[in-house]
Amino acid sequence: MLVVASENGKVGIGAAIEILRAGGSALDAVEAATREVERNEHDHSVGVGGYPNILGEVELDASIMEGATRQAGAVAAIRGFPHPISVARAILDKLPHHVLLAGEGAAQFAAEHGFEPMTLLTPEAEAAWRRVTQRPGFAGASLTVQARMAQDPEKTVGTVDFLALDDHGHIASAVSTSGWAFKYPGRVGDSPIIGAGNYCDDRYGACACTGLGELSIRASLARMTVAALARGLSVSEACHETMADLALLPLPATIPPAMSMVAIDRHGNHGGFTLAEGLKYVWQDGTMAEAATEERTQILLG
Ligand code: ASP
Repeated sequence: MLVVASENGKVGIGAAIEILRAGGSALDAVEAATREVERNEHDHSVGVGGYPNILGEVELDASIMEGATRQAGAVAAIRGFPHPISVARAILDKLPHHVLLAGEGAAQFAAEHGFEPMTLLTPEAEAAWRRVTQRPGFAGASLTVQARMAQDPEKTVGTVDFLALDDHGHIASAVSTSGWAFKYPGRVGDSPIIGAGNYCDDRYGACACTGLGELSIRASLARMTVAALARGLSVSEACHETMADLALLPLPATIPPAMSMVAIDRHGNHGGFTLAEGLKYVWQDGTMAEAATEERTQILLG
């Protein structure tokens, strides 16, 4: 058994391992682990306490995928529910054929299935948003201009990724995020897009992303990485190949090429990769008392 996560997944990895040790499924493990991060108010990139959009509303994206069947559930820009990963799981379990629900429809589905609504904007996150809105020239500007003005240095990034391999040889993956801080209302990143920020397949492995989601959407990053594993590449070779493809995407000069991935193959080989410097990931297998924190391999785009 194995669980691999982005570094902020450290608070949840124990919950996943506990489920796997008890003989539970990879799918249950990644959901439970993600919920621990979603409830962590100090993480401003996921769930409760996540930074809001430019209007001060917290909009969450999440997806969960089962490698045995390649069934998936996802929610995009859902407001008012603290555990989007469990809403995504309920879509996978209960709604025939559907994969992704967005906005109002996602909230309606969550309410219908008994999920408890709550206020997601914490005082700390609200204060960060207010600081942005008080910048000179902000008031009165169009939302497009405001969303541009709200970019660095206040912008925070982050997403939680979990990949798990259980003792039955099944793989699952989960991704949850509040997206880019102070984003345009309704902006949906890669996290709920199956194939972009999240993909798994029992036959080959799994991959999940954090970073500028528009890049992984445009490059189908998670799917392409699993497809590279299917061609027999190692985890490292697969991630190098798909990250290299990002170099061909034209980007506004103001946006740093932010992208990171975690990936596993079906044998339990794993790795963390990033275009940035100094980022880490965490992993734990059934023999370990606690998670290990590992440097991600930095990939430099030529
Ligand atoms: N990938 C997320 C998104 O684009 C954000 C992040 O990981 O920083 O919404």
